[in-house]
Order: sequence, then C-alpha cells, then structure tokens
Amino acid sequence: MRKLSLKIHELEQAVKIIRDMPEEFDDFSELPTSQYLDLKRGDVLSPMTGEEDDELFGSDDHLQFPADDIGQINGYRFMESFIHTVEDEDLRRKLERAINGKGAFSRFNNIVYNSSKMTADWNWHQSLKLRKWIVDWLKGEQIEPEWDGDIFARPPVASKRPALLEGVANFTAAAGQLSGVRQIALLGDLAVEDPYPDTVRVLVEVDNNMALGKLAKLKRKLDEHSLNIANMGADVLVVDPARHYLGRMCGYRECDPKLHQACRVQVNGRRYLHDDMDWEQDVMAEIVKPPVQLWPET
Ligand SMILES: [Zn+2]
Repeated sequence: MRKLSLKIHELEQAVKIIRDMPEEFDDFSELPTSQYLDLKRGDVLSPMTGEEDDELFGSDDHLQFPADDIGQINGYRFMESFIHTVEDEDLRRKLERAINGKGAFSRFNNIVYNSSKMTADWNWHQSLKLRKWIVDWLKGEQIEPEWDGDIFARPPVASKRPALLEGVANFTAAAGQLSGVRQIALLGDLAVEDPYPDTVRVLVEVDNNMALGKLAKLKRKLDEHSLNIANMGADVLVVDPARHYLGRMCGYRECDPKLHQACRVQVNGRRYLHDDMDWEQDVMAEIVKPPVQLWPET
C-alpha cells in the first residue's frame, strides 16, 4: 500500500467532470478529457494539451482516473437511494412516481431543486456515493489515503437565512418611515426557524389612498438583495386597514400595462399593485394572522 495525503474535494471534482462529460465530447474536443492523480504529491491534474496528456499517461508517477468505470456510475440508482432517505411521505411518493419511465431525471430535478433543503440533501447524498466509489477505487489501486478530515461527515450547511433577514430588516426600517404604511409583518419560511428558506415574503398594511411608488422602490431593493443571496425574488403582499388582501407589489420600475404584460393585472388601476396570485390556504391564513410583526415594534 502506498500512503498518500489527499483532498477529497479535488478527487470528487475530477470524478464529476468525467461523469458529466457528454459521451460525444471526445470526438469534437481538442482538449484532453482525462484526469490524473499525482502519486507523489496527491494532487489532481487536468492536462491542457495532447502532449501533456501523453506525458502523464506514460508516467509511472501518475494514475489516470478510469473514465469507463466512472461512466458506469449509475445516476438512476442515486435517485432511488436518495428517495429512501426522504422523510416526508408525500414527497417520497411524489419522487417515486417522478422517476418512473422516460424523463425521470428532469421530473426528479424539478421537484428536488424547488426546495433548498432537498437540494442540499441531494447534493450531499451524491457526494457520499461518489466518495464511497473513490475510496474503493483507491483501495483497488493499492493506495492508502490520508484525508484532510472525516470525508463521510456532512459539512455544516451555510444558511442563507441571516443574510435574507438582513434584507428584510433594511426594507422594514425604510418602509416604516413612509407615510401611509400602518404595519409590516413577516410571513413564510423566514417567519419560522427554517434554515433553508425558499421564500422571502413580507406583508404591508397600507392606508386606502396611499401612493405605492416609494414602497415599490424598496420592494425592488429587497428583490435585488434576495436574488443576490439566494437567487429568489421577494413577495411584498399588501392589505388594507381592514386586513383585506389587495395584491402583491409589482417589481418593475414603471408599473405600466403598456410597457409590461405583467402589469395588466393592476388592482383597480392602482399602480404597483398586481392581482396575479391565488395564494394557497396557508398563505391566506398568514395574511389574516401574520406570524411575526416587524413594525411597529411590539
Ligand atoms: Zn406592474
């Protein structure tokens, strides 16, 4: 056995590159597609030219990652085994149905990537499987790896929650200054202790005659912040003083049906207010009774 100090991220990355390479890539690419492990230093090397590739291939100090074996790693099996780990029974059934027949991968992805928690779980599940494959491969090659940590321990997920809440706090501080704003509340995932929020949703109660241009500007700022942090927009829902739901705020600089198709659903011609969503019951319940009041501070 040859002892070698290795970094799991580098090896995993190399396996992913080979696995995700389209089959026809070899035919039209000028670039070498092979990956090598440096048996002296433990580095992963990706040759950039044909000569480099030949040199590494002919060298005793470099081990080529076995592209044929990696091509056999079965993504469908990964999906199957992942589904067994999903605790929510409804979701599990939904995923089981999704991977039946043609188009299994895209149906599966549509469900999984719709939730940040499931996306993180799925990514880690794939990592685990690939890492197990890597360990077996190294063993077969008589290599005894010394890793830079426990490669089967899941690293902590960096939660986007604090950064998203910061954007909401900035929105609230500014919107609370606007005359006509009566109350601001937090709804959805951010209102509960969810480390994987999939929504940024704020409720604003406004006077009946309030012009919404300034509030819309703050909503666009909140959108931009949330997009930067978590690649999702923000919903600002508007209610009147009687707590009737009016609509949600437009995201355009100019709310104008002539400029944007989305603006054709203005509520009674009120600029920056769209009636474009049939909220599900749980959202409507939160609108009536918001879980967290942000402003005025209680
Ligand atoms: Zn609009």
